[in-house]
Amino acid sequence: MGDSINSNTQGLIRTAATRSGYSKLETARFIAPDMIASFELVLRRDDGSVDSFPAWRVQHNNQRGPYKGGLRLHSGVNAEEVQGLAALMTLKCALADIPFGGGKGGISIDPRSLSENELERLSQQFGHALAPIIGPHRDVPAPDINTNSKIMGWLSTGYHRASGQNGQLTFTGKAVADGGSEGREQATGYGGFIVARDIVREHKLDNPSYAVQGVGNVGQWFAKTVTDKQSDWRLIALSDSSHSIISKGSIDIEQVLNAKRASNLSDVTDVDIANSNTIIAADVDILVLAAVENAITTDNVDTVKAKIIIELANSPISDDAYDQLTKSGVTIIPDVLANAGGVIVSYFEWQQNQTNEHWSEDKVLTKLEEYLNVATKQVQKAAKAEGISLKDAAIAIALKRLLS
Ligand code: NAD
Repeated sequence: MGDSINSNTQGLIRTAATRSGYSKLETARFIAPDMIASFELVLRRDDGSVDSFPAWRVQHNNQRGPYKGGLRLHSGVNAEEVQGLAALMTLKCALADIPFGGGKGGISIDPRSLSENELERLSQQFGHALAPIIGPHRDVPAPDINTNSKIMGWLSTGYHRASGQNGQLTFTGKAVADGGSEGREQATGYGGFIVARDIVREHKLDNPSYAVQGVGNVGQWFAKTVTDKQSDWRLIALSDSSHSIISKGSIDIEQVLNAKRASNLSDVTDVDIANSNTIIAADVDILVLAAVENAITTDNVDTVKAKIIIELANSPISDDAYDQLTKSGVTIIPDVLANAGGVIVSYFEWQQNQTNEHWSEDKVLTKLEEYLNVATKQVQKAAKAEGISLKDAAIAIALKRLLS
């Protein structure tokens, strides 16, 4: 089995389906996407030259509601990756028990290579191209890597021009002023902490130490939430794509964010600076993976010292490394549960837009906690009852819901 998100996700589904006794037909249906739409987006550059970029939208499964999932802009985007991420979204929405299926899309482009005007034209064109296959009750795209609320606005404009429909109901992750939800920015990191809190408590660790790979939106909101709600956890290592910083005492997340705004992590004082990859081997109780897929593979799994790993990124541990960690007793809090906060608040945004309401941040985060507490308890209970990992239990619950 390779290490792609698609092969990892298909492997998980097959294992859970075999254990639960599903037929070959049912298993094949869990895996096969409903549609893989591919596009070639032609862009007029500012200097008059012409380029084209491949793009995809995969609609994986809508058994439980409209397809839901992000659109990412990244040079590594390809049909295989988008397919795996779409299947993960199907599982995540089913596990969170929200009425959405799974989808994902993206353009194979490094957005930093475009001017602001070029990025606007390309985003509008993608919105235009997607118009025939998306809609508030059909497929509801969201932001993902390198797509922010401004880009969602441009996508929505292209969609509106092609369909005549208002994009507000069709896209989530909008700016609050454009109908977005309070609490969406912190939802994934905040939710990751809510899920992890009870599971970590079961390990009865004294002042647990933790490290965070990736100090972007998700990683920083996780650490800020810990600072706010769980003062006995000690943040002692952090990394971004260029450096790791390791402290002998504890790291103040706000100081780190200020240093990052100024330049990068290497400006943080009173810490040791190392290569970004060394974070995986940090000598901590809890390792939080909030950056990229396949952060832990068979190449570095032997270096892991943490007893608990929180998967905030999608598929950050390869299949083989996962097996090895699970066999050696490491508790892994799975992506489909740990990072579900983002899509749950996207669901709240969609609900607010349908009913023309605007909920307070307090209401959004309280409701988010309710959804995550229910899902976490269900996963813990199933894992204990069956003697299986939290991830296998989570996938089994999701597959059962897809059939009911
Ligand atoms: P982001 O772009 O805001 O931050 C990513 C961070 O990872 C950056 O700090 C970057 O420097 C760092 N990084 C990249 N490569 C790295 C490496 N090799 N080592 C260490 N750090 C590295 O992205 P985000 O929104 O925080 O998302 C992080 C992960 O969480 C992604 O895998 C994303 O798919 C997943 N996720 C995000 C959301 C969400 O709501 N934002 C929801 C579900 C899942």
